[in-house]
Amino acid sequence: MDLFKDNNQSNYIEQVRRRGRIEVICGSMFSGKTEELIRRLKRAKFARQRIEIFKPSIDIRYSDTDVVSHDSHSISCTVVDSSASILLCSSETDVVGIDEAQFLDKGLAEVCIQLANNGVRVIVAGLDMDYKGIPFGPMPDLCAVADEVTKVHAVCVRCGDLAAFSHRTVADQKQVLLGETSEYEPLCRACYLEAIEEDKMKREDKD
Ligand code: ZN
Repeated sequence: MDLFKDNNQSNYIEQVRRRGRIEVICGSMFSGKTEELIRRLKRAKFARQRIEIFKPSIDIRYSDTDVVSHDSHSISCTVVDSSASILLCSSETDVVGIDEAQFLDKGLAEVCIQLANNGVRVIVAGLDMDYKGIPFGPMPDLCAVADEVTKVHAVCVRCGDLAAFSHRTVADQKQVLLGETSEYEPLCRACYLEAIEEDKMKREDKD
């Protein structure tokens, strides 16, 4: 694989110079990732750029065709099953936005590199860690190859500090359990450690 070769267009380097880049917006649940994605996309729209927005088909929380954040600002989008479909649907586009990127496959980083190398500004939002604190899907790779990474934070519901962890409040071990607000709470590191200790004790009481 060589992602930095094979482009004969004479003006292609100029195109890349103009706007080709990868921006990642990551953080826990309730950290405002989608709001930040929508803010950037709306500004691009004001600048009369052609934008295309994608989200994985697994995210069916609010609407089939809209990227909707918790504060219900929304913007319409295309639902995709794989990262490869994003490449197919992004011709003639200046800016590509991708929401809930953690649910897409590991090929996403390569897709974003190809888009950026073709002069597209790519803005990706996603959960950086699952509820166990493990890097989520393609997010670590995306952070590595991005031109710019913005880590946004929620507020810890226990102590009011900045929160980077999404603690699951129901006992379900599946990684992909989609976010009803009642099933997760944002916590800081100390409160998260405390919470998983408490969960462990609760489980031991049951056994
Ligand atoms: Zn805390």
